[in-house]
Amino acid sequence: MKLRILGCSGGVGSELRTTSLLLDEDILIDAGSGVGELTLEEMRRIRHVFLTHSHLDHFSFLPLLVDSIFPCIREPLIVHGQPATLKALQDHVFNWTIWPDFSKLPTEEKPVMRYQPLLPGEIFTLGRRSLEMIQVNHIVPGVGYRAACPSGAFAFSGDTTTNDNFWNVLNQREQLDLLLVEAAFANADEELSKKAGHYTPKLLAEDLKKLNHQPDVYITHNKPGHESTIMNECRQAIIGRKIIAAKSGQTFTL
Ligand SMILES: [Zn+2]
Ligand SMILES: [Zn+2]
Repeated sequence: MKLRILGCSGGVGSELRTTSLLLDEDILIDAGSGVGELTLEEMRRIRHVFLTHSHLDHFSFLPLLVDSIFPCIREPLIVHGQPATLKALQDHVFNWTIWPDFSKLPTEEKPVMRYQPLLPGEIFTLGRRSLEMIQVNHIVPGVGYRAACPSGAFAFSGDTTTNDNFWNVLNQREQLDLLLVEAAFANADEELSKKAGHYTPKLLAEDLKKLNHQPDVYITHNKPGHESTIMNECRQAIIGRKIIAAKSGQTFTL
């Protein structure tokens, strides 16, 4: 299983892209502005998009992706998410006002895009790969994912603040080689961080004590301009783990 970080910043500016991960050639986890790193040919190979939640930085390039590949694909692009996330997209984005409803184009019988609800705790299997949706704690209904194949497993927190469920579920699984987890704000912004449903390095360090596995830990979703402060605070607060700044363009083989 191959993983490529297309975008993992909390914002944009120069080389910064918002959240999107490419799994092998055919799966996206979130579809933020990182999707803009893909060629048209790479976009046409995407078959599944797994969304963590309904915030703009995690889906903003999905409407443009669908429009760019339309109508050149034979099978619909399947968009997976919690029911609340999919409803938000249907009501507020693909509603003919902001963007066409591609779940009805070119025809309702053979659309270019199809919604497929998934519930936290459910596992979606694609050949030898599986993706498990895991409830987290954000200001809108949010999830993370654990992706596994026979040779490895990684987890992505999506956007979250302090919670038990994400860590409990990962502890129940046998393997975790790689963890991508957010730390959006610096410690000085703890109050804002709690209001917005994000981790600071201090809050993340407290939660990481709940995790029994010893994966490499890649930190995502830093507020633009605060990256070095957040990473320094993470390295000070998180003891006994390998902590690395996640960056667009990084690739992993699991
Ligand atoms: Zn969010
Ligand atoms: Zn976000």
